[in-house]
Amino acid sequence: MQAPELHLNSNLRDVEAKKPLASRIAFLFILRCDSLQPKESEEIMNPLFGKAAFIVSLISMMLIRAPHGKRSGQVKIRESRKGPLEIAFLALMGIATLVLPVISIVSSLLSFADYGLHVLSFLLGIVCAAMGLWLFYRSHADLGTNWSISLDIRQEHQLVTGGVYERIRHPMYLSMFLLALAQAFLLSNWIAGPLYLLAFLLMFPLRLGPEEPMMLETFGDEYDAYVKRTKRLIPYVW
Ligand code: SAH
Repeated sequence: MQAPELHLNSNLRDVEAKKPLASRIAFLFILRCDSLQPKESEEIMNPLFGKAAFIVSLISMMLIRAPHGKRSGQVKIRESRKGPLEIAFLALMGIATLVLPVISIVSSLLSFADYGLHVLSFLLGIVCAAMGLWLFYRSHADLGTNWSISLDIRQEHQLVTGGVYERIRHPMYLSMFLLALAQAFLLSNWIAGPLYLLAFLLMFPLRLGPEEPMMLETFGDEYDAYVKRTKRLIPYVW
């Protein structure tokens, strides 16, 4: 005589076999998707870790920039190309890296767009933040009082071609790109996470468009030679 559970299993098989093919495929698809989901306990972290790391990175950015802003603010601007588009994008970047993340961290207004923080995402976020902060610090130190938040030429402006400016012309923008990636990896929220990256990708071509001609007009052959021996953002590549 057949064991009762075997009998039950064969009954189940019969029922499954009688189901239409489409519903069986759908069932298998759901099973497959479910097996692709990260295991809750092993790979999903408390989002507070990502938020804390982001806050540390944001405060570090501010602390790095503050003394440079103060120092270069004392040097008069000779020529400024700040237009309305530039002001709009600076405002958008401020909203994307400060206002929205803070709202998502201190309130539940954006919690409808939350998702689980994956361990890998957290680790990538930490690596991007560390590299971004180092480059943010170095590029401010190398530019010195020639730095401006906007498109400005200061009095006695010097063309910097050493330090992190030796191989690429826009290390500060590269640092901001890395910090934008860090934000997207660390904040597990579909709005507050990737918006800075999006704002940066929109701002970058709009910045480079007028910045490089401005530098060429100001420094002439010296900048031309610098352009010829360097790349924009990624050493040896682009
Ligand atoms: N694009 C650069 C600098 C950003 S700060 C970077 O990403 O690292 C913007 C200001 O820096 C501009 O107003 C410009 O006047 C100044 N600047 C840009 N490149 C410079 C250089 N190589 N030397 C001196 N000043 C520079």
